[in-house]
Amino acid sequence: MSSETEKPAMPSNFIKAIIEEDMRTDKWGGRVHTRFPPEPNGYLHIGHAKSICLNFGLAREYGGQCNLRFDDTNPTKEDVEYVDSIKADVHWLGFDWEDRCFYASDYFERLFECAVRLIKLGKAYVDSLSADEIREHRGTLTRPGTESPYRNRTAEENLDLFMRMRAGEFPDGAHVLRAKIDMTHPNIVMRDPTLYRIRHAHHHRTGDQWCIYPMYDFTHCLSDSFEGVTHSLCTLEFENNRELYDWVLDTLEMYHPRQYEFARLNMTHVVLSKRKLIKLVSEGAVDGWDDPRMPTISGFRRRGYTPEAIRDFCERIGVARSGNSVVDYGLLEHCLREDLNDCAPRVMGVLRPLKLTIVNYPDDKVDEFEFPFHPEKPEMGSRKLPFTKELWIERTDFMENAPKKWFRLAPGQEVRLRYAYYVRCVDVVRDASGEVVELKCEYDPATKGGWSNDGRKVKGTLHWLSARHAVPAEFRLFDHLFREGGPADVTDPDSLAASLNPDSMEVLKGFVEPGLADTEPGWHCQFERTGYFCADARLTQPGAPVFNRTTGLRDTFAKELQKG
Ligand code: ATP
Ligand code: MG
Repeated sequence: MSSETEKPAMPSNFIKAIIEEDMRTDKWGGRVHTRFPPEPNGYLHIGHAKSICLNFGLAREYGGQCNLRFDDTNPTKEDVEYVDSIKADVHWLGFDWEDRCFYASDYFERLFECAVRLIKLGKAYVDSLSADEIREHRGTLTRPGTESPYRNRTAEENLDLFMRMRAGEFPDGAHVLRAKIDMTHPNIVMRDPTLYRIRHAHHHRTGDQWCIYPMYDFTHCLSDSFEGVTHSLCTLEFENNRELYDWVLDTLEMYHPRQYEFARLNMTHVVLSKRKLIKLVSEGAVDGWDDPRMPTISGFRRRGYTPEAIRDFCERIGVARSGNSVVDYGLLEHCLREDLNDCAPRVMGVLRPLKLTIVNYPDDKVDEFEFPFHPEKPEMGSRKLPFTKELWIERTDFMENAPKKWFRLAPGQEVRLRYAYYVRCVDVVRDASGEVVELKCEYDPATKGGWSNDGRKVKGTLHWLSARHAVPAEFRLFDHLFREGGPADVTDPDSLAASLNPDSMEVLKGFVEPGLADTEPGWHCQFERTGYFCADARLTQPGAPVFNRTTGLRDTFAKELQKG
C-alpha cells in the first residue's frame, strides 16, 4: 500500500530518464559527464541558456561534471572576445566548469593522429575534386551519390598528400580529407563526409601553426571521447550526424560517449541565431551584443534580467525529445517578474516630469515621510523622503478632459500623494504653445500620511518627488526589436531595416529620489507604478544614473498560465 507513495519521483525529462536507467544498469560506472560546447563565433543567446542549464544542471543533479568546451575549429569566424564573453555568461548564469575549460584547438595534434589512423585503416582518403564537384557527387535524398575518381588512392598516396596538406604545400580548396564510408548511403551525412579542409588562416589560439582544420563532425565526437563525456547532448538538427559520430568512434575503436538530441528553444519576437545576431551588431542596428533589446545573455543581463529568472524559465520550458514549438516571450517575463517582485526594492522615480506646486504649502517647509522598501518585507527596511512645495509628478497622471473613470489628477479632482497628503488640482499653467507645464494644487494638512479621518476617500494614489531634492536621471524604455510579425530575413540588409521596430527604445529625462544619485551599475529596483528597472552597466555615472526598464509591472502572461 505504502509502496505507491515511496516510488521515486518520475524523471522530469527524457534525458533524466536515460541517465537514471544508465545509473541502474551501471552503464558508466555511476558517472555523469556532460559538456557545453559553444563555438566562439558570437555571444551566447537565450537558446544557449537552455543548453547550459541542461548540461550543467544534469551534472549538478547527479553529482557529475560538466566541461566547458570551445568548439574552435573555424579560424576565420572566431575571436577571444567571444571566448571571454561566453565564460562570463556561463558564470553569471550560476554555473562553473571548475578546472575543465577545454578547447577543440588543444586537440589539433591528437585529431590529426586520429585522421592518420583512419587513412592507414583505409577509412579515409584525400579527394582532389573541387567543392562544387564534391557537392554534385553527393547526390540527393532520392538520388544516390557517385564516387570520386580519387576515392581509391592507396593509403601511402593518401598519407603523403595529407602530410603535404599539413605542411602547407597546397592552396585552400585544392584537397580535402574525406571519410571513406558509402556514397550510396541513405543518410547523406554518411556519403564520405569531409573531415579536414585546407584553410590558410590565422587561428586565435594556435596562430599560424596549422593550415588544415578539422570539421565539426570529426572534432566533436573525438573531443567528447578524449574528455570522457558520458552523455553528449545536442540539438535536433544533429540527429542525422549521430550516425557519423558513432562511425568515427567505432572505426577508431575509441571510448564512446552517447549522443542524444533535444529540441532547440524557439521564442516569439526574437531571433536566436548567432549568424543573424552578428548582422544586427555589424549593421549598427543595436548598441552592441549587450544592447538591452538583444536576446543575448549579456543583453538580458544589461536589461536587468536575473540569472534566477532565466534558470527558472529554462526549468519551466523543459526538455523535449522532438518538436519545434515556439515559447511565448511572456513566459520569460513572467519568470522575471516572479523573481523581481520578491527581491527588488521599491523606490520613487518620475519618468515624464510635470511640475506640481502646492499653493497653500509654506515656501520653506519640508515634511519627511517614511517609505518602506518593500510592502511585504519589513526586513528590507525603509527610508525617509522629503516633501516640499514644488513637486514632480508623472505627466501621464494628469488629464485635462478626463473620462469618468479617471481616478488620477484632473482639474478639480483630488488624489493622494503616496504616504504624504491629499491634494486637489485648482489651476493649470500653460506655455505659449498651450501645453500644460505646471499644475497648481491645494493640499489638506489634515490628511498627513496620506489618510483622511473624515471618511473622505480618493481613488488615485500618485508617486511624486520633491523637485528641490530630486536627482536627474535617464530612463530607457524598450519594446521588441522587431515589428509585429517577427523578423524577416535579417541577412538581407533591406529586409533587416524594414523589419526593425523603429520605436524599440525610448529615452526619457526624469528624476529619481535623492538616495539614488550614486546608484551602482547593475542595481535592480522597482520604480513604483512604472516598472522594474536596472541601472545601466555602461552608462550609469556617479551622480547621473541611467535606468533601463527591465519590464513593466503587469503580468499578462499569468492569465495564460491559469488557463493552462
Ligand atoms: P546558432 O545557431 O545561434 O549559431 P549554434 O548551435 O550554432 O547556435 P553553438 O555555439 O554551436 O551555437 O552552440 C552551443 C550549444 O548550444 C550547442 O550544443 C547547441 O546545440 C546549443 N544551442 C544553440 N542554440 C540553441 C537553442 N536555440 N536551444 C537550445 N540549445 C541551443
Ligand atoms: Mg554551431
